[in-house]
Amino acid sequence: MAGYLHDGLLIYLGELVDWGTYFRQRKGDDVDVEAERAALIGVLETCAEICAQIEPEAREGWDQPVELVDGEPVPPPHIQAGYERLREVGLLALPVREEYGGFQLPSLICNMTLELVSRADASLMTIMGLQGGIAQDIQEYGSKELRERYLPRFVTGEIQGSMDLTEAQAGSDLGGIVTRATEEDGRCFLDGEKIFITNGGAEIHLVLARDDDSFDQSKGTTKGLSLYLCPRTLPDGTPNAVFIDRLEHKLGIHGSPTAVVRFDHAEAFRMAEKGKGFKAMLNLMNHARLGVAAQGIGIAEAATEEAIRHSKERKQFGMPIGEQPLMKNMLARMVLNVEGSRALLYRCAVLIDRNQAIEAYMAREKDLGEAERAELQRLWERNEVRIRLLTPLAKYVATEYCDEITRLAIQVLGGIGFMAESAVGKLHLDGIITTIYEGTSEIQVSFALKEIGKGALETVFDELRKELGELTGELVPLAEKVLAGIELITKASSALLTDFSYALLCSRPEAEMVSHVVVATELLKQAQVVPQRFDLAASWVNRKLLEVEMHARRISTGSVDRIARCESIIGLFE
Ligand SMILES: Cc1cc2nc3c(=O)[nH]c(=O)nc-3n(C[C@H](O)[C@H](O)[C@H](O)COP(=O)(O)OP(=O)(O)OC[C@H]3O[C@@H](n4cnc5c(N)ncnc54)[C@H](O)[C@@H]3O)c2cc1C
Repeated sequence: MAGYLHDGLLIYLGELVDWGTYFRQRKGDDVDVEAERAALIGVLETCAEICAQIEPEAREGWDQPVELVDGEPVPPPHIQAGYERLREVGLLALPVREEYGGFQLPSLICNMTLELVSRADASLMTIMGLQGGIAQDIQEYGSKELRERYLPRFVTGEIQGSMDLTEAQAGSDLGGIVTRATEEDGRCFLDGEKIFITNGGAEIHLVLARDDDSFDQSKGTTKGLSLYLCPRTLPDGTPNAVFIDRLEHKLGIHGSPTAVVRFDHAEAFRMAEKGKGFKAMLNLMNHARLGVAAQGIGIAEAATEEAIRHSKERKQFGMPIGEQPLMKNMLARMVLNVEGSRALLYRCAVLIDRNQAIEAYMAREKDLGEAERAELQRLWERNEVRIRLLTPLAKYVATEYCDEITRLAIQVLGGIGFMAESAVGKLHLDGIITTIYEGTSEIQVSFALKEIGKGALETVFDELRKELGELTGELVPLAEKVLAGIELITKASSALLTDFSYALLCSRPEAEMVSHVVVATELLKQAQVVPQRFDLAASWVNRKLLEVEMHARRISTGSVDRIARCESIIGLFE
C-alpha cells in the first residue's frame, strides 16, 4: 500500500461498482458517467492530500486535551487546523444535497473520506463524521424551515453538530431516557442532562427526549421519545439554555470533545413525527455506525503500516524481524483483517447507494410501468434487509479487528511499542472507543441476531450464492468452500433460533460466521477483477472458513444449559 490513496479504495471506483446504473438512476440517462466518476476520484485525491498534511500534527499533538474555557470547549490546535483544512476544500457535510450547497456524495465515498481522516487523526474524524451525520438527519427529518436555516451552514462548516442520546441511567438501553420535552403554546422546551456527548459544544444538538404528555406511561421504553433539534443560539440571536457542565478526560481520542450537556428549559424544534424519535435516531445511528466502522479501519490501517515499516527496519538475530515466519503471519493477519473489514463496510455502503439511486429513479420517472416499478420496489426491499443486517456486522467486525490489530502492532514494535510516545500505542488507545460508542459490540451482535431472527439470512445468502456461482477459474474451489460454509451456518442458525437466551449467548460467534462468508464472497469478487488479490481472498477463505466450522459445530452441539455453566464459573470469583 502506498500512501493514503491506494488500491483498496480505488478498485471500488472501477469495475467493482456499477457506476453507470448508479448515476443514470440518480441523475438521468444523459449523465456523463465518466466525468462523475472522475469527480469522485478527485474528492478522494483531495482528501488524501489533506490527510497526509494532517497526520504529523495529529500524532504530535495526540495527548493535548480539549479545554473548557468560559463554559466553551476549545479543541487543541491540531483539531482546529485540521477542521479548517477540510473546510477550505469543502470536505464537510458530504452527504448534503446540492440544493443546500452540498455534493450529495454516495455513502461509499463519504465512508472512504472518514476512513482516510481517521487514519490521519481519529479525533478529528469524530467532528467530521457528526458534521455529515447530523446534517443528513436534518435533511431527512427536519422541516423545510430547519433545512433551509441550518444545512447550508453545515456545508460551509460555519456550524457543527452533536447527537445527544446518552444519560447517566440510559446507555445501551435508551428506553431509560428521562430528559423531558414540554410543549407550551406550540413551542417545545427541553429539561435534562446528557452525558458523554461528542462535540457537545456544537451549535446544533439533536436530542432524544421523552414527551411530557406521555412521560409516565412510556417511561422505561423507547416509545414516547421524540427527536428535537436544539440550537445553542435561538433564531432571534439570543442564547439558548444549553450549558456544558464538564468535559471528560479519556484514554484516547483526546482531541475529540466529550461533554456533559445540560438543557435548562432550552427551546427546541421537533423533527420527525412526535413519539417516533427513536426510529429517526436509529436512522442517524446506522449512518454513524458505518462511520465508526470506517474510523476503526482507518486507525487499524495506520497501525498496520507502522508495524510493517518497523518490521523491515528492526534487525534481530541478524535479520529484519519481518523475515521471521511468525512475524510474517502476524503482519499478514493484520492486513487480512483490515481488508476484510473494508470489504464488509464497502459492500454495505454500495447497497445503500444502490437503494438511494432506486429511490431517486422511482421519484423522477413518473411514467414507469407498473411491472417495472414493482420489480424495483422488490429489489429495494431486499437491499434494505441486507443493509439492516450488514450495518451492525460492519461496525462489529471493523471495530473489534481495529482493537486486535492495533494491539498486534504494539507487539510487532516490542518495547518501543509500549513507550508513551509510540504511534501504535496512541492508535490502540484511540481505537478502543470504536467498540463502545454508537452501540457497543454486544449491542451490534444483538441487532444482527434480531435481523437474523426476522429471516435476513436467506436474503443475504441468496445474493452470496449468486455471486459465488459467477466466479471462474481458480476461484471456483474457494467459492465451493464458502458455499459449504453457508450451509453450515444455515443449519446452525436454525438450531440457534429455537431458544432466545441461547441465541443471545451465541450472538458473537453467529455474527462472526455470517461476516466471514460475506467478506469471503466480496474478497473473491475483488480477486476476480484484480488477480493480485488472489492470495488475500484465498487466505481469508482458508483461515475464516475453519472458524465457521468450529463455531457452527459448537453452536449446533450446545444448548441453553451453557448459561448455567457460565454462572457457575463466574461464581468462583464472587
Ligand atoms: C468517548 C465517548 C463518546 C461518546 N459519544 C456519544 C455521543 O456523541 N452521543 C451519545 O449519545 N452518546 C455518546 N457516548 C455514549 C456511548 O454511546 C455509550 O457509552 C455506549 O452506548 C454504552 O453505554 P454505557 O456506557 O452506558 O454502557 P452500558 O450500557 O452500561 O454497558 C456496559 C456493558 O454492558 C454491555 N451490555 C449492555 N446491555 C447489554 C445487552 N443487552 N446484552 C449484552 N451486553 C450488554 C455493554 O455491551 C457493555 O459491555 C459516548 C461515549 C464515549 C465513551
